[in-house]
Amino acid sequence: GSAPPELREQTLVLVKPDAVQRRLVGDVIRRFERRGFKLVAMKLLQADRGLLDKHYQQLRQKPFYPALLSYMTSGPLVAMVWEGYNVVRSSRAMVGDTNSAQAAAGTIRGDFSMHVSRNVVHASDSVETALQEIGFWFQRDELVAWESSDRDYTY
Ligand code: ADP
Ligand code: MG
Repeated sequence: GSAPPELREQTLVLVKPDAVQRRLVGDVIRRFERRGFKLVAMKLLQADRGLLDKHYQQLRQKPFYPALLSYMTSGPLVAMVWEGYNVVRSSRAMVGDTNSAQAAAGTIRGDFSMHVSRNVVHASDSVETALQEIGFWFQRDELVAWESSDRDYTY
C-alpha cells in the first residue's frame, strides 16, 4: 500500500496456551481491534522448543526458563501480527506489566491473570525485536497486506 512507514509498524502478539485453554482468544483480539490496529497475520499452532529457544533467547539462562518452556508448550497458542501507528509501544501498554500481580486493571494481564507464570499474552518489546520475532513465527507470505475499503475506519 501507500501508507507511510509509521502507519505500517508491526508487532508480534502471542495468545499463550493458558489463554487458549481459558477461551480468551476472542477477548484479546477484540482489544486490538477496538484500538484500531490491523490484523495482518494469525495462526493457531503448537510451539516447539526450537522456536521458543529463538523467541526467548535472552531468557535461556534464567532459572524460570524450564518452567517457561513447559508453560509455552502446554498446548496450542495463537500467533498474530498487528499493524498500525505506534503499535509496539501501544501493545505493551495494553498488555501490562510482565508480572500479572502488578499489572494495572484495564490491561490484558491486569484483567485476566494474577501470576507471572500464566500471564496470558506476549507482545514484542521494541520495533527491532518485533521484526526479529515476526520472522521466527511467520513466513513472509503469511503476512497479508490489505486496505479497508471504507477509509473512515483507518488512518
Ligand atoms: P514480557 O513477556 O513482559 O516481555 P519477559 O520478556 O521479561 O516479559 O519474560 C518473558 C516471559 O517469561 C514472561 O511473559 C513470563 O511468561 C515469563 N517470566 C518472566 N519472568 C518470570 C518469572 N519470574 N517467573 C516465571 N515466569 C516468568
Ligand atoms: Mg519480553
